[in-house]
Amino acid sequence: LDDNIAKLDGFLSRFRTEGIQNRIAGQDVKGSAGTFQNTSPVDKTLICDVAHGTGVDIDAAADAAHAAFAAWRDMPALARKKILIRIAEGIEARAVEIALCECWDTGQAYKFMSKAALRGAENFRYFADQVVQARDGQHLKSPTLMNITTRVPIGPVGVITPWNTPFMLSTWKIAPALAAGCTVVHKPAEASPLTARLLVEIAEEAGLPPGVLNTVNGFGEEAGKALCENPKIKAIAFVGESRTGSLITKQGADTLKRNHLELGGKNPVIVFDDADLDRALDAAIFMIYSINGERCTSSSRLLVQDTIRDAFEAKLIKRVNNIKVGHPLDPATEIGPLVTEEHFNKVTSYFDIAKEDGATVAAGGVTVGDEGYFVRPTLFTQANNQMRIAQEEIFGPVLTSIPFSTEEEALQIANDIPYGLTGYVWTNDLTRALRFTDKLEAGMIWVNSENVRHLPTPFGGVKASGIGRDGGDWSFDFYMEQKHIGFAT
Ligand code: NAD
Repeated sequence: LDDNIAKLDGFLSRFRTEGIQNRIAGQDVKGSAGTFQNTSPVDKTLICDVAHGTGVDIDAAADAAHAAFAAWRDMPALARKKILIRIAEGIEARAVEIALCECWDTGQAYKFMSKAALRGAENFRYFADQVVQARDGQHLKSPTLMNITTRVPIGPVGVITPWNTPFMLSTWKIAPALAAGCTVVHKPAEASPLTARLLVEIAEEAGLPPGVLNTVNGFGEEAGKALCENPKIKAIAFVGESRTGSLITKQGADTLKRNHLELGGKNPVIVFDDADLDRALDAAIFMIYSINGERCTSSSRLLVQDTIRDAFEAKLIKRVNNIKVGHPLDPATEIGPLVTEEHFNKVTSYFDIAKEDGATVAAGGVTVGDEGYFVRPTLFTQANNQMRIAQEEIFGPVLTSIPFSTEEEALQIANDIPYGLTGYVWTNDLTRALRFTDKLEAGMIWVNSENVRHLPTPFGGVKASGIGRDGGDWSFDFYMEQKHIGFAT
């Protein structure tokens, strides 16, 4: 812990003196509305001042992305690929700095963030390898025409990201956009600006031309809204809450924006009595209590068959009570503080809501100390699917356990929710797994596994969890336009 704190101190000293500026066309630019303060959830102290960008700054960044677009689009694919690989190498070289800054900014435990930084590098490597194929077209024969369908980058795009695992999520959007040949204006979450700054620095050091990636800090209602409304920005890749997703759609209507929305979730993990229960227990715990439970794919509803419920819940309670809450830079810590006071108040409000609804607080349900925004990992039992703790995205280390008796009932409960991002099914009956996954309303389902991300597969949700898919060629479908050319023969 002491070693990590000393290293972090070194990494933060420049932010303390210089603050964080916007980065537009390869230049540091002050925020047009001055600065706002960024504090750490660990001890509520000031980290640094951050440029407060508004529509003026977004317009300047969109102009820069627009000006840089043609040259970036026309750069030979192999040259673009080389730059993206150098960005991946730059991320790997500064992975410790990225991870420690992310932990201090968001409260996430180092145990998990050390891996998240490297996943950001993987995102760049993967899409670097796809650059050459991105523009591959099709030849569709007809009697009178030689038909060629090709793809071209859509233009400058906006990327708006949330505060949970902000570095990894930013790379997940920015890497394919750059690989496709788009230029980018990135608006990071106001609660976690540190690593977005590191990313633009690494990209420029890797040879990314000025204006290809621009970062404007600021608030959603100002800078975020202006980005959606800017006519030079052709598409918005958004990750955040479902209600913000609706706003993104409305704000982009006048400029006919193409939107990709990755939104909230209230994902079920369904455990049948014929499953490997030890593995199911491990996965259920990992998917809600790692990364502070602040992950869109977390399994926040446990649907457990009534025949095994008592034994399963008893083991769960024991394990939850053993989870280590503490300083996020301590490598042994599993849960750090929640990201902001506002989010802490939201998550802890559900401790009372659970009791009012008639559920039992079987583990946790309490805060820890008063220095930062720490809570004990929490388990609600004796719940039903109509309760607010079962229907609303809490987005913290909080699990609601709901019993079921039959497969039909499990399916009904799993689908009775506005969201549809992920589902996790535990059973050793293959026919049931096929039947169940076919009917489960979710964009991504894992059977007998926690969430394992494989970059070529489609990532995204249904219902209030989103519109569109990332991953593999799906990312290029979003950042590129199909273009058809017919030659008379
Ligand atoms: P949020 O919607 O409050 O904010 C996300 C981003 O949108 C921030 O940068 C914010 O400044 C910006 N924003 C807010 N209002 C805006 C507006 N009117 N116009 C433009 N931009 C605006 O989300 P959050 O609280 O930062 O993140 C948590 C949410 O993100 C959770 O709901 C979580 O499930 C979701 N999430 C989804 C995925 C996914 O892949 N589906 C991944 C991670 C997080």
